[in-house]
Amino acid sequence: MKRVPLSELERIYEALKSYGSVWVRKKNAYETAETPEELLSTVSKVKKPAKFIFLPEEEPLLAFVQDGKNVTFQEVIREAKGVIFGIPPCEAKAISLLDLNFLQGEGEDIYYKKRRENVLLFGLACLAPDSRCFCTTFGYGPFTESFTDIFGVVVDDVLLFEGITEKGKDLVKNLDVEDAKGEELKKLEAMKKEITERVKKLDIQGIQEKLARMMDSEIWDKISSSCLGCGACTYYCPTCYCFDIQDVERPNWGYRLRTWDSCMFTLYTLEGSGHNPRPELKYRWRNRLMHKFNYYPVLYQEFGCVGCGRCIEVCPVNIDIREILMEVKNEPIRA
Ligand code: SF4
Ligand code: SF4
Repeated sequence: MKRVPLSELERIYEALKSYGSVWVRKKNAYETAETPEELLSTVSKVKKPAKFIFLPEEEPLLAFVQDGKNVTFQEVIREAKGVIFGIPPCEAKAISLLDLNFLQGEGEDIYYKKRRENVLLFGLACLAPDSRCFCTTFGYGPFTESFTDIFGVVVDDVLLFEGITEKGKDLVKNLDVEDAKGEELKKLEAMKKEITERVKKLDIQGIQEKLARMMDSEIWDKISSSCLGCGACTYYCPTCYCFDIQDVERPNWGYRLRTWDSCMFTLYTLEGSGHNPRPELKYRWRNRLMHKFNYYPVLYQEFGCVGCGRCIEVCPVNIDIREILMEVKNEPIRA
């Protein structure tokens, strides 16, 4: 592991800048850092997770222009290049879950890929998990480095860090920094234990199988009864990615636009015929939970939730996904 005093972060900042933009945690979102001091963000959980960089709320995919009988098309790809500095393990894991959906096989999404492959994740351990965090439920925790390219921890007034992927190791190799000291590594181990134990772990064993038997359960009425269907939980969730595509037409030109969508909206599943397979909120809630805790595990052997607690924080009527999971777990299955 390497070390750099926080007072000398400029050395890291310059190296990261040579890679492209350097995004850091600001109050509501990741934004580019203008100075090395901004690497020392005190924001522990950014409201808008890093998925906003890879999946913007809206993006044009294609432009078309009509000239008489000729129509020309131009593909539009919005690129991103740089380093996200300070991404916590939950968000880095969430990106690994998005990768499963956007980077595999025939479903590969070139727009997502173009940004993803040019952005390095410089993770930082989460030193201040809040009361809504339940990341340890999913087999990882505030010090898990494996979803990042480089991973670091601030110990007192020093940043300790190491390259995790080949790309990350290459970047670290070229930095003029010392090795971490023995006492710093010892302190790091103690912090890891103490902070990880602070996160409340839920027992969701068997939830995937249980959900598979609850399609017709009455629990969905109860769960959805206070929901407003506003979709905030899905928009801020770092693992949600539903989108819609529309052609925007002007007299002689137009463009194809991808915009975020949400499975909590009535229109999301409304078909051209007028039929809606999920006409009531209870069906949409069922889909949201099934997608994260049954369909994702079936498809990818991973839950589609990282336990970041954002959906709990933004819900205007205080719906808490942890309570819902426990309700599902304790609900008897009727024969
Ligand atoms: S806790 Fe909520 S916001 Fe966070 S990943 Fe899970 S469902 Fe999404
Ligand atoms: S944020 Fe709350 S009220 Fe809005 S859709 Fe999600 S669960 Fe329902």
